[in-house]
Amino acid sequence: MNFLIVGAGLSGAVIGRALADAGHKITIVDSRPHVAGNCHTERCAETGVLVHVYGPHIFHTDDAEVWDYVNGFARFLPYRNRVKSTVGGSVYSLPVNLHTINQFFGKTMRPDEARAFIETTQADTTITDPQSFEEQALRFVGRDLYDAFFRGYTEKQWGCAPTELPASILKRLPLRFNYDDNYFNHRFQGMPEQGYTAMVEAILAHDGIDVHLETPFTHEMAKRADHVIWSGPLDAYFGYSLGRLGYRTLDFERFTDTGDYQGCAVMNYGARDVPYTRITEHKHFAPWESHDATVCYREYARSCGPDDIPYYPIRLVEEKALLGEYEALAEAEDGVSFVGRLGTYRYLDMDVTIREALDLVPGLLQRFGTPKSP
Ligand SMILES: Cc1cc2nc3c(=O)[nH]c(=O)nc-3n(C[C@H](O)[C@H](O)[C@H](O)COP(=O)(O)OP(=O)(O)OC[C@H]3O[C@@H](n4cnc5c(N)ncnc54)[C@H](O)[C@@H]3O)c2cc1C
Repeated sequence: MNFLIVGAGLSGAVIGRALADAGHKITIVDSRPHVAGNCHTERCAETGVLVHVYGPHIFHTDDAEVWDYVNGFARFLPYRNRVKSTVGGSVYSLPVNLHTINQFFGKTMRPDEARAFIETTQADTTITDPQSFEEQALRFVGRDLYDAFFRGYTEKQWGCAPTELPASILKRLPLRFNYDDNYFNHRFQGMPEQGYTAMVEAILAHDGIDVHLETPFTHEMAKRADHVIWSGPLDAYFGYSLGRLGYRTLDFERFTDTGDYQGCAVMNYGARDVPYTRITEHKHFAPWESHDATVCYREYARSCGPDDIPYYPIRLVEEKALLGEYEALAEAEDGVSFVGRLGTYRYLDMDVTIREALDLVPGLLQRFGTPKSP
């Protein structure tokens, strides 16, 4: 069968590869001049630094099969994401952990002491059923830590008051009462040595796969395919006929410097009067490399306009209602499978994207057959 896959990001590449391995003929189009979608990495010609062009991407997962899958296409090197936050004239460790708590309150508490201190002197225990992000934070973290580490960052990131956001955005227990400053809790974490684009190129390196870059989808193309896999924006497929699904977009203010600019990969800025949310310094995402110069991104979040790159789906009440209407249209569209972060309008980490892509394939093979055994 001839499959047309729209999008050469992780979703399109993983699905395309599995279908090609099974003997199908795959055409992939992407409007961008490169593969790998938002995970795209590119070496800076001036500094030699490997840059995460659409924002930093750290691979982390508990899914051993997905970890094996990515390691089959790239050499992963160990990397631990350790994030810092500059606020109120000090630099703190994130996620908020025992070091952060002791430093912030000028104490030397042990884990149980800190837990009791937060619960009895900080947490707002009058909130029994937190409804909003703010209530959730006040219940478990208290006003002081909330104002320093959660409030301003969240306002900048989402462009609204934390009282308008659901409690579920903040994890139930957003504090750690030990010195673990590993940002992610997963068993496996690492970075592909040569970047994500090289990994996706390896996934796509198959005789049965043709990739056409700088080629936006047209409905004319779909007529030549037996089935379309769509990893572009769900609303875009339908020409935004019901309106646009809301996203936040990011502006990256790129700058270079010599030496080491901030000493870590990610520095958050929680204060409301600092307009950016964080600065990322890309050479620290590849600590095994050595470069004299450095490339940094100042990251600003704002509402996504029609010509902007959609980054984070907003998914509040209004958007979910519109999503439901688009999902009904998608359901009725027999010749198309909607996949990935844009095609399903969800924030998906890379490992979840790969897991969902791998899980979709057996159903497609059942429906369209398996020309040759994998
Ligand atoms: C700022 C940011 C940071 C992130 N950091 C992490 C992280 O640290 N760790 C992690 O696991 N995940 C991270 N993610 C998530 C990660 O980016 C996604 O899991 C991944 O990009 C999803 O891949 P995808 O193929 O579904 O979508 P995409 O990567 O968006 O690929 C979709 C592709 O479709 C193409 N396309 C769209 N419309 C058309 C059209 N009409 N015609 C042709 N082509 C089209 C696009 O050009 C794009 O290349 C992050 C996401 C963001 C936004």
